[in-house]
Amino acid sequence: NTFEDVKLTEIIRSNIALTRYDKPTPVQKYAIPIILARRDVMACAQTGSGKTAAFLVPILNQLFERGPVVNQSAGQRSYGRRKQYPLALVLAPTRELATQIYDEAKKFAYRSRVRPCVVYGGADVRQQMQDLERGCHLLVATPGRLVDMLERGKIGLEHCNFLVLDEADRMLDMGFEPQIRRIVEQDTMPKTGDRQTLMFSATFPKEIQMLARDFLENYIFLAV
Ligand code: AMP
Repeated sequence: NTFEDVKLTEIIRSNIALTRYDKPTPVQKYAIPIILARRDVMACAQTGSGKTAAFLVPILNQLFERGPVVNQSAGQRSYGRRKQYPLALVLAPTRELATQIYDEAKKFAYRSRVRPCVVYGGADVRQQMQDLERGCHLLVATPGRLVDMLERGKIGLEHCNFLVLDEADRMLDMGFEPQIRRIVEQDTMPKTGDRQTLMFSATFPKEIQMLARDFLENYIFLAV
């Protein structure tokens, strides 16, 4: 029951060591191997369960393993250009949660070629656009602000092969379903089969089951 039980690249192992997480939490223990095996996941997990690392560690590991793809990604090539093409997208309901996920992503992506970014509503859009222009491989976003960035042509989802909906029930409670559908059902977003999709939710009501049915393919259901 350690992080050494799963096969992770050197960079992610050393970054886990820096966070001083010595033992995976239950959601990490069960979700990380499943996500590394490239399955879609619907996980019922509360805040505080360690769910953030449960999806960030295996997604970043897959990005690091791809090496050259990360090098060639739009983020690197388009330095100083306007549009960014993240390889992974994490949707979260609030600025606070998005910032927490971003902070955790920075820790796990430390000294790698993967650059995380965060965008959320209620803050200066120009500053966020400038930050995106420095390169964005993993984007953490609240749904409304991401729709805004897509409409401004700042973000393209063509290369987004990893999608996470975190605290999906809270996003629906906050009325974000139209924005979420708009993002996930974009023509440019890779379809199920070409993308790996992970949903985290504290509860599993009908509305969440319907989102899971629409966004996930042949998924594994985890309750911790
Ligand atoms: P989360 O549920 O992802 O919001 O995580 C809750 C808190 O637990 C965060 O402050 C994490 O930094 C911390 N945490 C996550 N995984 C571990 C772990 N394996 N060992 C110790 N702390 C952890």
